Amino acid sequence: MRDVITIDGPSGAGKSTVSRLLAKKLGYRYLDTGALYRAVAWKVHAEGTDPESADALTGLLKKTRITCEDKKVMVDGADVTTQIRTPEIGELSSRLSAIPVVRKYLFEMQRHIGLEGNVVIEGRDIGTVIFPESENKFFIDASPEERARRRYEELKNKGLDVSLYDILDGIKKRDRRDSTRQSAPLKKTGSMVYVDTSSLSIDEVILNIMEALKTS
Ligand code: C5P
Repeated sequence: MRDVITIDGPSGAGKSTVSRLLAKKLGYRYLDTGALYRAVAWKVHAEGTDPESADALTGLLKKTRITCEDKKVMVDGADVTTQIRTPEIGELSSRLSAIPVVRKYLFEMQRHIGLEGNVVIEGRDIGTVIFPESENKFFIDASPEERARRRYEELKNKGLDVSLYDILDGIKKRDRRDSTRQSAPLKKTGSMVYVDTSSLSIDEVILNIMEALKTS
């Protein structure tokens, strides 16, 4: 298969920064699959669809067109890149990602993009469900406390009044939901290279990944 590098891991571990930089270094495309789940959540919210109803979601998804190119995310022709980054949409996307019809809808899209090759894809189930056949699978992790601290700094720098305790609580809840759901839970497997970023710089993480990359 043409080169697909999969990067999985919990939120806040540094997956996006690492994946984006790695793609740039290799001259590959980059796909942030979390943005696709967020785009679905944005549409569900905008339409006032019941997130608990599989039928309503199926109907909605049939008439929804999502595209994602590098940083830009579009839903039915509207640019939602910034709007999908709110905590509310993050929370709703996490709930929706446990629903099989949503995962099925995004499965084909992710396969299609990946099969074009030379791409870094990041998410929660890329190495387990979307591209299990990839030869370059990574699991990027960091302790919940370190992830909360990074998120806290990021939001503080944006001038937001946030509580470290609440952020840590939110991260732990999201971890639990992402890793215990029935449908494609976040899982680290023996075929993935595990990288704990808690005490590493971005450059060190990239170096670790580059050294572990297999070329076929
Ligand atoms: O990565 P990000 O936090 O933007 O993803 C939003 C939500 O989408 C996550 O909480 C996770 O539940 C879900 N997700 C997923 N599978 C993926 C990517 C994201 O379930 N491949």
